[in-house]
Amino acid sequence: MNDAEEPREAQPCMACRGAGKVISTLGGRKKKVMCPWCRGGGERIPGADAQEWRVEQDRAHVQTRTV
Ligand SMILES: [Zn+2]
Repeated sequence: MNDAEEPREAQPCMACRGAGKVISTLGGRKKKVMCPWCRGGGERIPGADAQEWRVEQDRAHVQTRTV
């Protein structure tokens, strides 16, 4: 199955099961964060770049952490 060839219809986001939020264990703490795959909408966004979003979050996390 190829994502690019699927019809464009809303699919429940698998990562958060439609909740729009996922548990992030970044930094060793469990924290609810907006689901990067659906951007909090609970529906999968075709072509959503969760990896890129994650990188931005990681960067933000590093910036707010006092070392
Ligand atoms: Zn989601």
